[in-house]
Amino acid sequence: MMEISDKKLYSLLMAETPCYVIDSEKIEDNCKKLADIAGKTGAKILLAEKAFSFYPLYPLIGKYLAGTTASGLYEAKLGAEEMGKETHIFSPAYKEKDMPFISKICDHIIFNSTAQLKKYRDYCLSGKSGRINKLGLRINPELSTQEGHAIYDPCAPGSRLGVTSERLASDIEADRDSLDGVTGFHFHTLCEQGAEPLYETVEAVEMKFGRYFKHLDWINFGGGHHITRKDYNVDLLIQIINYFRDKYKFEVYIEPGEAVALDAGYLVTTVLDKTENNGITNLILDASAACHMPDVLEMPYRPPILDGMEPGKGKYTYRLGSCTCLAGDVIGDYSFDREINIGDKLIFGDMAIYSFVKNNTFNGMPLPDIDVIDGDGKLTVNKKFGYEDFKMRLGK
Ligand SMILES: *Cc1c(COP(=O)(O)O)cnc(C)c1O
Repeated sequence: MMEISDKKLYSLLMAETPCYVIDSEKIEDNCKKLADIAGKTGAKILLAEKAFSFYPLYPLIGKYLAGTTASGLYEAKLGAEEMGKETHIFSPAYKEKDMPFISKICDHIIFNSTAQLKKYRDYCLSGKSGRINKLGLRINPELSTQEGHAIYDPCAPGSRLGVTSERLASDIEADRDSLDGVTGFHFHTLCEQGAEPLYETVEAVEMKFGRYFKHLDWINFGGGHHITRKDYNVDLLIQIINYFRDKYKFEVYIEPGEAVALDAGYLVTTVLDKTENNGITNLILDASAACHMPDVLEMPYRPPILDGMEPGKGKYTYRLGSCTCLAGDVIGDYSFDREINIGDKLIFGDMAIYSFVKNNTFNGMPLPDIDVIDGDGKLTVNKKFGYEDFKMRLGK
C-alpha cells in the first residue's frame, strides 16, 4: 500500500498534470542507507545515471555517494558537470570521435571486449586527453539468477554484454597482452535483486575469473542491487564487499540506479473521461504507459497507485488508459473504495526510476512536468515542458 503524508498529498493534488514529482526526502533517506554501507565497508557507491538522471538533485546525492556511472558520452558529461565527483563509463562499444572527451572526463573506462580495449588502451593511458584513465573489462560470469525478465538478463546465452571466461582465455591465448592496462573487472548481472544472488554471482566470478585477480586492484559489482528495499540483506552485502577487500585488497565499487531513487517519485495525472465497453469502465488519463512509464509495458510491471487495489477488491474497478491511439496503452486494472470521477487526480508511486528518463512524445503527447517535493510538502516547480519540446526534436 502506498502512503503519503497529508502535507505532501495536499501539494501533489495542487500540481498541474501530468507531472512527475520527485521526493527529495526519500532520495536523501535512500542515499543515507547507501552511505552507511560505504562507511562500514570502504566501498565506493556510484549513481547509475540511466535510472535517474535527475541532475537538479545531483548535489544532494553527491553529498552521500562517490560519483556517477554512465552508459555513454552524454550521461558521462552530465555526471561530470553536475556531480563532479568520480565519473565512470561503460558502453558495449565506443566511437573514435568520442574517446578524447570521454578520456578527459572519466576516471574509469570499462570496455566490453578485448578488441575495444586494444583499440583505445594506448590513448587512454597516454595522458593525451589530460587524464590517465583506469581501464576495466566487463566480464560475464554466465550465471543467470533472475527469472521472468529475460530482456534484463545479461547472462542469457548469446548475450553481447561482457566477456565470458572461455572467450577471455582464447583472447589471451591468441594475444598474451590482451589484458594489458586493465586494473579492474566489472560485472553487471542483477536486476532488482537481493544480496543472495550477488553472493552466487561473486562465487561464479571468483571461480571463472579468479586466476586474473592478482593483476587487478578493483572490482565493480555493477547495479541491480535493491539495497533500499525493506527486506534487502544489507549484512550479507557488507560481508561480500569486505571479503573482496580483505582477500584481494580490492577497491570495491557498486553502481545502483534504482536503489538511489526507489519509491522516491510520483506521477500525478487527471481523469479526463470515463468510457464503458462490455462491463469494463475505462478511465482516460492525461498520462500514458507508452510515453511516460514504458516499463509498465516493457517489463512488464504494475505501478502502485494511491488508494488503489487489485481489481475487484475495492467497490469500483477501472481500467486505466491514456490519450494515445495505442489500444494497449493501458496501465492496468485497479479498484478503489470510492467512485473515481472525471476531473479527479490519481497519484502513481515509484515513478522516479526508469520513468522520465525513458519519456517520449509519441502521438505528440506532452511531456509531464518534473517537480520536486520536500519532507514538509513544499513543492518546487523544476521544469515545465511544452509544444516546443515536441517540435524541436523533429526539425529546426
Ligand atoms: C543498468 C545498469 C546499472 C544500474 O542498474 P539498476 O538496476 O538501476 O540498479 C549499473 N551498471 C550497469 C552497467 C547497468 O547497465
